[in-house]
Amino acid sequence: MSDYVIAPPPRAAIPVRGSSKLFPVRRIYCIGRNYAAHTREMGGDPTRDPPFFFQKASDAVDLVPEGGVLNHPYPPMTSNYHFEIEMAVALSKGGENIAETDALNHVFGYAVALDMTRRDLQDEAKKLARPWEVAKSGDRSAPIGALVPASEIGHLSQGAIRLAVDGVMKQNANLADMIWSVPEQIAILSRYYKLEAGDIILSGTPEGVGKVERGQTMTGSIEGLGEIKVKVV
Ligand code: MN
Repeated sequence: MSDYVIAPPPRAAIPVRGSSKLFPVRRIYCIGRNYAAHTREMGGDPTRDPPFFFQKASDAVDLVPEGGVLNHPYPPMTSNYHFEIEMAVALSKGGENIAETDALNHVFGYAVALDMTRRDLQDEAKKLARPWEVAKSGDRSAPIGALVPASEIGHLSQGAIRLAVDGVMKQNANLADMIWSVPEQIAILSRYYKLEAGDIILSGTPEGVGKVERGQTMTGSIEGLGEIKVKVV
């Protein structure tokens, strides 16, 4: 007999590539403006802006089937739905005030992910000095591929990160272009929050973000992690 008054909601989890294992998701942290050219395209100054973070709901993960295409519904309340290709970093260990030199010991693995954004709502929120919640933490706003363990591929600090829409390249950069490296992100974020195993960090998107429409298919890839295909329906 359970003490819960309703059935507990299922926990979001991400498959681990090449196994039947799942990575349970506790929180999804996102870093804003972490590639210089994207910072400029969003009106910021990459030489001055410190890193900042926001969260998506943990059940915003929308799993892309391995080798398949995810049908991803166009969300309500927007007419400017944007893709942002990002590398997801999954933590196997938590902590506070984690040292940069120790940070990668907290990483379980990596995945290709999208930070889908209702850009019109984000623009409005910026103007009105409101939270980004409805722009960034929408239902299913984090399509994500299988996690690849660092024990298999090591840690990723360089390699192509790309997104194409219907075969046309829109974002094409390198992980090495990040302003704040993954160890720096973990170290800085752990000053604000006690990180825990199960946390995911979306490490920011490079330049070239743009809108996607129903019927279009996004192909996101990161060197070393493979690709994901997401069709907007
Ligand atoms: Mn983003």
